[in-house]
Amino acid sequence: MAEWRSAHEHVRVAVIGSGFGGLGAAVRLRRAGVTDFVVLERAEAVGGTWRDNSYPGCACDVPSHLYSFSFAPNAEWPRSFSGQPHIRAYLERIADVFGLRPHIRFGAEVISARWDTARLCWEIETPSGTLTADMVISATGPLSDPRIPDIPGLSGFPGEVWHSARWNHDYGLGGKRVALIGTGASAIQIAPAIQPEVRSLTLFQRTPAWVLPRLDRRISRAERWLHDRVPVSGTLRRGLLWGVRELQVQAFTKRPGQLGAIEKLAGAHMRRVIKDPVLRAKLTPDYRIGCKRILLSNSYYPALARPNVEVVDSGLAEVRGSTLVAADGTRTEADAVIFGTGFQVTDVPIAHRIVGADGATLAEEWRNGMSALRGSSVPGFPNLVTVIGPNTGLGNSSMVLIIEAQLNYAMDLLRQLDALGGKAALDARRSATEVWNRRLQQRMERTVWNTGGCDSWYLDAAGRNTTVWPGTTREFRNATSRIRLAEYEVLRARGDAEPEAPVAGAGSEGGAV
Ligand SMILES: Cc1cc2nc3c(=O)[nH]c(=O)nc-3n(C[C@H](O)[C@H](O)[C@H](O)COP(=O)(O)OP(=O)(O)OC[C@H]3O[C@@H](n4cnc5c(N)ncnc54)[C@H](O)[C@@H]3O)c2cc1C
Repeated sequence: MAEWRSAHEHVRVAVIGSGFGGLGAAVRLRRAGVTDFVVLERAEAVGGTWRDNSYPGCACDVPSHLYSFSFAPNAEWPRSFSGQPHIRAYLERIADVFGLRPHIRFGAEVISARWDTARLCWEIETPSGTLTADMVISATGPLSDPRIPDIPGLSGFPGEVWHSARWNHDYGLGGKRVALIGTGASAIQIAPAIQPEVRSLTLFQRTPAWVLPRLDRRISRAERWLHDRVPVSGTLRRGLLWGVRELQVQAFTKRPGQLGAIEKLAGAHMRRVIKDPVLRAKLTPDYRIGCKRILLSNSYYPALARPNVEVVDSGLAEVRGSTLVAADGTRTEADAVIFGTGFQVTDVPIAHRIVGADGATLAEEWRNGMSALRGSSVPGFPNLVTVIGPNTGLGNSSMVLIIEAQLNYAMDLLRQLDALGGKAALDARRSATEVWNRRLQQRMERTVWNTGGCDSWYLDAAGRNTTVWPGTTREFRNATSRIRLAEYEVLRARGDAEPEAPVAGAGSEGGAV
């Protein structure tokens, strides 16, 4: 790993992570004329999610023309739901085309970021050295640190064990007895991709998923030609995909009862393929559709109907040698165990590494549940923007829309700092943050995520939904279009001018959610 820092390196902005969030931030900074920034990435390549998830069958479940940057349309998407290699290649191109490479430092895992109250900057420690930054944009991803449950006896399993986001490409699955733990978004892509080659595939399912048909198809050469030659056609396509999803939001957030019709569709999708009544019963959810992420697949049910696949309707409880024991006592022999058990979502690792003004970590600040002002700013953690922060996730649309909205907010924070002049920092007021979150949680009460009768990764250990945005992406974009200075305290370095009064007309404290 190269030693890249000078003795006392200081930058205007440090971005953590180089997925959609970090790369998007880098583009926005360059476009704003800011060149004094770094992107710190712990891995050796860009891409985040789309670098790490290389499992067979990995693809997006939001159409590619929407799951991409608005400022970087790609006429060449090969399918309506493109696969991981194409999305990864798209992000690599973003790094090249927008000239981001000189700013990116690989192997630069942020070990700690500590707010320096006297100097009003972040002191950031990486394995290659320390640097300081006026502002930090943390884009470490909501789904970037795998979660493997603590299963008794797992360490004594004689075969291979890995997580879906850390696929072991050196191990051939051909002819092997494979156990797949979990039936979430990754697992339902993996199962049909590996079923034809394995000797047996056993799925350990705690809760069945609602699965809808995947309207995936190849994008024709004519369409690609059109999007290339007449770019507005791509914009229209994106707009249509976006609009349809915006219209669906009401059913998720205000009228979950309307989702019953979609349940009928999902039920018919399953019954068309699964003829065995016992298997049907195992695969039929008992909660409202949408409560957990709705999955899209045309190949999952056909794979489950194959003779070499078994669904164990119970979670993995224990491992005894090469025998996997489910909570209901079912025993399965396996050569390889693959965990499709998701990520550390409500206890994000970076929060344990960010230390705020009063010496507490972000994880300590969030000990009663994550929260932030407009998903972006946390009291006591000045000049920090959390991209895909608390309550910014989406149940049905593209996270890139949220990322771009939050980058508008981050860029406005930087503009406000410039406008304040001298050495200044903006710290979210606790009162404004509380008002924002109180309203947000009130809105959450009616949503399908809270009322649908399921336990999902959207909820934290206390059962509070700290991950999903309970509105449309347009509402979120409006809420994050600019900083409302009244929601922030202006901090000045010692010896600098007195704190500023809020700028007139800059917005009222705790604006509507
Ligand atoms: C399999 C899968 C499929 C998905 N499909 C969709 C989809 O179809 N539609 C959708 O909207 N969303 C989807 N998502 C969600 C997806 O994570 C987001 O859409 C988006 O990619 C997040 O981008 P990000 O930059 O915030 O985070 P990431 O892409 O996770 O990038 C975070 C980066 O931060 C780096 N990092 C983390 N910690 C540190 C540290 N301490 N120091 C330095 N670097 C660090 C990581 O190495 C990583 O490169 C999917 C997620 C997964 C896992």
